[in-house]
Amino acid sequence: MSALTAELTLKDYRLTPAQVPPTVAEALEPAEKAELFDRIQRLLAEQDATLVAHYYTAAELQELAEATGGYVSDSLDMARFGSECRSSTLVVAGVRFMGETAKILNPEKRVLMPDLAADCSLDLGCPADEFTAFCDQHPDRTVVVYANTSAAVKARSDWVATSGIALDLVRHLAERGEKLIWAPDRHLGAYVQRETGVDMLLWNGACVVHEAFKADGLKQLRVEHPEALVLVHPESPLDVIAQADLVGSTTALVKAVRELSASTFIVATDNGLFHKMQQAAPDKILLEAPIVGKGATCVSCAHCPWMAMNGLQNLARVLENGNNEITINAAIRERAAMPIRRLLDFARQRQRVVLGNNDA
Ligand code: SF4
Repeated sequence: MSALTAELTLKDYRLTPAQVPPTVAEALEPAEKAELFDRIQRLLAEQDATLVAHYYTAAELQELAEATGGYVSDSLDMARFGSECRSSTLVVAGVRFMGETAKILNPEKRVLMPDLAADCSLDLGCPADEFTAFCDQHPDRTVVVYANTSAAVKARSDWVATSGIALDLVRHLAERGEKLIWAPDRHLGAYVQRETGVDMLLWNGACVVHEAFKADGLKQLRVEHPEALVLVHPESPLDVIAQADLVGSTTALVKAVRELSASTFIVATDNGLFHKMQQAAPDKILLEAPIVGKGATCVSCAHCPWMAMNGLQNLARVLENGNNEITINAAIRERAAMPIRRLLDFARQRQRVVLGNNDA
């Protein structure tokens, strides 16, 4: 291993607390909310626009998307819905890589976002130039990147993966004799590596929300609620995953709450997902997995600060002024489309329902 490779492998790409903005949710009076609902509904219709929202965004945005013929889901499924819907404009309520993925798959459409500063700690922790240098040091390895990356990082990859299909995909590549680079989430990478035993070099990034869940706090909560099943998103640390009754993507976790017979669930993922879970199973009791315990910092307090940047006010503004359009250099866009399309084809070949098995 060269000095540069060793340096890049060992470097910690996780954000420090100072690099993470505070989570600030939009606070509106009922009358303001109602006025904004009407205004946005009218603007969407006037502009031939469809609202697509991520599960982690505010309940109001999810309700508005569903009430106006839009869609609420995980990132890749949002992009796929965007490809299938006929509107000429997509408004993506989520984080920036989701807007970029929508644009990559739908280059002919105008893609707007309520706030272009809505980023992601995984994306921020994987700068394209350093990642490219790292990959160049390992030309014998297949490059697999998580959906939570920039268009430029996807453009340097061979495959895009989502948490819902990561295990299948990595096993498939290993059967072909391929050794891998996995980026940027070290926790998801470690989980996949442990489950598959595949030779993977892991980038050293993390999600600030999922990394904060604490094993000792979870252990205590399980003692207090022995009847509860534990649902964990695989961006969480391995010692949290080790306590899970079910590990899965956002869509898999919603399905678990709806279909499993337990009445109580402890859930380790962004608490924005609770809205969809509660819609799916109104009678079930949902408990947040603890972010307290040894080493706790509560950087995000189980809700993504970048997802919280989406609100009704900036959504209305962007529809009125047309700002915040996603643009991507054509060469990067075309190159980034290839690994995403490979993923979609792989999922189809496996007869997996990509709708409902992906996540970010
Ligand atoms: S919850 Fe984590 S992975 Fe998802 S957008 Fe926020 S920082 Fe990124």
